[in-house]
Amino acid sequence: MVKVGELRAFVGDDSVIDEPGQMAAYLNEPRKRFHIPAAAVVRPATVPQVQAIARWANENRVPLIPQGGNTGLVGAQVPLRGDEVIVSLQRLDAIRDVNAQAGNMTVEAGVILQHAHDAAEAAGAIFPLWLASQGSARIGGLLGSNAGGVQVLAYGNARELCLGIEAVLADGRLYQGLSALRKDNTGYDLRDLFIGAEGTLGIITAATMKLFPRPVGYETAFCSVAGPEAALELFYLMRERTGSRLTAFELMPRLGLDLLLKHQMTPQDPAASLSPWYALVEVNLMKGSASGALEAALAEAFERGIIADATVAQSETERTRMWSARELMSEVQSKEGASIKHDVSVPIAAVPRLIAEGSAAVARAIEGVRPCPFGHMGDGNIHFNFSQPVGADPKAFMAREADANAAIYDIVLRLGGSVSAEHGIGQLKTGLLERVKDPVALAMMHSIKSALDPNGILNPGKMLGSAHKAVPT
Ligand SMILES: Cc1cc2nc3c(=O)[nH]c(=O)nc-3n(C[C@H](O)[C@H](O)[C@H](O)COP(=O)(O)OP(=O)(O)OC[C@H]3O[C@@H](n4cnc5c(N)ncnc54)[C@H](O)[C@@H]3O)c2cc1C
Repeated sequence: MVKVGELRAFVGDDSVIDEPGQMAAYLNEPRKRFHIPAAAVVRPATVPQVQAIARWANENRVPLIPQGGNTGLVGAQVPLRGDEVIVSLQRLDAIRDVNAQAGNMTVEAGVILQHAHDAAEAAGAIFPLWLASQGSARIGGLLGSNAGGVQVLAYGNARELCLGIEAVLADGRLYQGLSALRKDNTGYDLRDLFIGAEGTLGIITAATMKLFPRPVGYETAFCSVAGPEAALELFYLMRERTGSRLTAFELMPRLGLDLLLKHQMTPQDPAASLSPWYALVEVNLMKGSASGALEAALAEAFERGIIADATVAQSETERTRMWSARELMSEVQSKEGASIKHDVSVPIAAVPRLIAEGSAAVARAIEGVRPCPFGHMGDGNIHFNFSQPVGADPKAFMAREADANAAIYDIVLRLGGSVSAEHGIGQLKTGLLERVKDPVALAMMHSIKSALDPNGILNPGKMLGSAHKAVPT
């Protein structure tokens, strides 16, 4: 029996929640798929408090789940056994340092992404990690899940944006890896071990992140394309013409826009005309760079027959409307009943094949299914979602999830892709990881876990699943 009351000695009475009714905000995750309670939630406010919690948990073999904003989509941040203590890092939310000119800032794990954006912008820079959950997701969670988002194309994912990490190890020691160095070849890359580890190797307490010069504006267009093949051609052309200024290239099917209009989630269609597919393209405008690059490339795309037409945003309101259509693509599908979702990636050139073969395979397996693949085409990451057939029973549809998964993952692997592009493994995909990951890579992952967390107290059962056995010290 876990004596969670002992935690009060480290953090004070009001920072331990063990009343089930008060834990809801830490247990209810966005997918509504995982419903196991926790033994308690503890809310440290300082790094030494996090260290004391880890030391106590290691000695008493209490499982800990690091948690940030609780916006993860694979159940990595919520319990799967019921005896876990959630360590919420939300109170560790200081912005320690911002140096816009040098291009870095050091922030604590509980800083909300939007606040990190605001701090960077106040200093005249940008922190270019943009996702729809940025009002709630926090730095520790973004790093723990190696989040991607809509500008990976230009700036990289959370891993690529991170220069250094400070983390509490399973035994309570502090790994002091905060650094603004761009070059440091003094041994194994320990920083990267904690990124994308889903809280299984350490509790991140702070990180030094990269900042970039703030663009003076953006050129944004909503382009009508006949299909993913044409979208790929458009992407190649845009990249050739605009280079590193191309910051986003997102793909959407007409079905997604029809649903937005049907459910009144957009006041106006952002597209110029009816088309089976659309690409949302954005190019940044830096101080001194000439405007018009986007429109010139679009004119060429039109002449070559790659696009049928395009709307170029004439104001920030129009740009916001275009982006909000893209950001609501997942949410609107829930208004249509159940949907089966896959977060997958393939080499960019294979995206059209993925969409064509995946849509056909699942349509063969489930009559009337409505494919709604959308997402970050520019980095090969497609959110391959399927809405239930019109009028179907949602439960009966979800009972076919395994068939849809098998079809999609088979195609993804055949095309050299990944079964989890940006959302991670958590508790949703542990069995899948074990089936598809190279056995040597899996064995290395188990060895690293055993070396850093021999008693298996950090987020046990996540990512490596029950196949990971602790080797108690
Ligand atoms: C509307 C919506 C849109 C989204 N869009 C995207 C998107 O475009 N791209 C994308 O990649 N994801 C997206 N996500 C998923 C989610 O927002 C990201 O995974 C985000 O990085 C999670 O941050 P969080 O603070 O909520 O972490 P949590 O959900 O709290 O935790 C996520 C993981 O990180 C671990 N963790 C948390 N804090 C720490 C810490 N301090 N140290 C070590 N490990 C820790 C947890 O144990 C868990 O394994 C979206 C989610 C929603 C709800």
